[in-house]
Amino acid sequence: MFTVATAAQSAYIVAALLFILALAGLSKHETAKAGNTFGIAGMAVALAATVVLAVDSDIEPLGLGLLVGATAIGAAIGLWRARVVEMTGMPELIALLHSFVGLAAVLVGWNGFLHVENHLQGDAAVELRAADLLGIHSAEVFIGVFIGAVTFTGSVVAFLKLSARIRSNPLMLPGKNILNLGALAVFVALTVWFVVEPQLWLLIVVTALALLLGWHLVASIGGGDMPVVVSMLNSYSGWAAAASGFLLENDLLIITGALVGSSGAYLSYIMCKAMNRSFISVIAGGFGIEAGPGSDKDYGEHREITAEGVAELLSGADSVVITPGYGMAVAQAQYGVAELTRKLRDKGVDVRFGIHPVAGRLPGHMNVLLAEAKVPYDIVLEMDEINDDFANTTVVLVIGANDTVNPAAADDQDSPLSGMPVLTVWEADNVVVFKRSMASGYAGVQNPLFFRDNSAMLFGDAKDRVEDILQAL
Ligand code: NDP
Repeated sequence: MFTVATAAQSAYIVAALLFILALAGLSKHETAKAGNTFGIAGMAVALAATVVLAVDSDIEPLGLGLLVGATAIGAAIGLWRARVVEMTGMPELIALLHSFVGLAAVLVGWNGFLHVENHLQGDAAVELRAADLLGIHSAEVFIGVFIGAVTFTGSVVAFLKLSARIRSNPLMLPGKNILNLGALAVFVALTVWFVVEPQLWLLIVVTALALLLGWHLVASIGGGDMPVVVSMLNSYSGWAAAASGFLLENDLLIITGALVGSSGAYLSYIMCKAMNRSFISVIAGGFGIEAGPGSDKDYGEHREITAEGVAELLSGADSVVITPGYGMAVAQAQYGVAELTRKLRDKGVDVRFGIHPVAGRLPGHMNVLLAEAKVPYDIVLEMDEINDDFANTTVVLVIGANDTVNPAAADDQDSPLSGMPVLTVWEADNVVVFKRSMASGYAGVQNPLFFRDNSAMLFGDAKDRVEDILQAL
């Protein structure tokens, strides 16, 4: 028989399909916009079906009011934030949103316990236990609360680090790996105990344990590895949502959570490969990484150059490579950079761009900015495509990049960036570094590039300096 409930279930299947199409669309530049539209449509269908299901289940007017009110308030805040957020503030916003998913999973888990385990006595408990259902429910509660709480505090620390409210250096507690492994072992033991004998204090202990573990896992990871952490927390938030789906018996939440969980895990894996990091090490809070906090080595004196000097260098150059970073995004220098590129190409100079996979603060951040300023796609190359060509390049312009061009990653084993592939700009004849001061990059590590004989610093806001060069040209 066709009921409201079956209609809602069908709508859930449609929404799940739309979410799959959204992920497929987001995997390529050309289809990303369509992917986003599929995602929005899927979420609209899912929300409408949820409200209809609630009405059909004779929800009390107060409950319905709360549901609709919360949806409207949430949508309004979401729209406002999405409108005002700067591109450079995107990762911290995403981290904050992940923390909400984690918190929701904790609340759903606690609610599940208070409604079932805490209430069941006498025959009902015996019946459920006989059918083994109580044990399954308890495991769902415990695991859901654990994943949710780890995601919650982990995401809060990521938010604080990304928004520079706390330092991005890795926290190096003595025996940090033992602490993490110990917490996991205690979690497994408590889960068994809770399944056998669900008790309130066990849930309190696991919540506190997971909150501390989430905090420690992310605090232990250095600034340079934050892109992987963000996608890893994305994955955790998916698994937390899936756990809530089991508790709420909501198939769509299970499917959506699994989609987010597995795609986030895969993205983390790809990013780890690109950054030459061990996937297991990063998800285990920097397991096995014992690098020091970066050295205070004296690299000698740096050399400065003026905008006119750079214009002269560029005029005599055969080939120029521009390696942009976070500073170009902050200064919004991409339009000037695009203009400079046009001017130099008109003069017959071979100009190309070298893009590091984690330059900026978002995967693909630099590509988006350059596309916005209409830089032709075919001269924008990935790190692996350009690295062999630096030795034959006359001038490299490092525009607001720092960690992604740090030679210490390649030749200093004690550096927290050690092992991360970087753009080997120092192999060029001349390197000009655009930045405002000698401050370190996101990972908080000094950059020996600035002190090399073939490097010169062009201080000031990148946009202003690019305009000065354009004038001088
Ligand atoms: P960095 O963050 O290492 O360095 C950026 C540099 O830009 C700073 O040293 C700063 O120096 C300079 N800068 C800032 N504002 C301006 C301005 N207005 N004009 C000129 N220069 C400016 O950038 P990279 O892109 O090289 O590296 C990205 C880092 O961020 C990596 O460590 C990466 O792991 C991390 N990260 C990347 C994410 C991603 O997904 N891509 C997400 C999260 C973190 P000064 O203050 O002296 O001007």
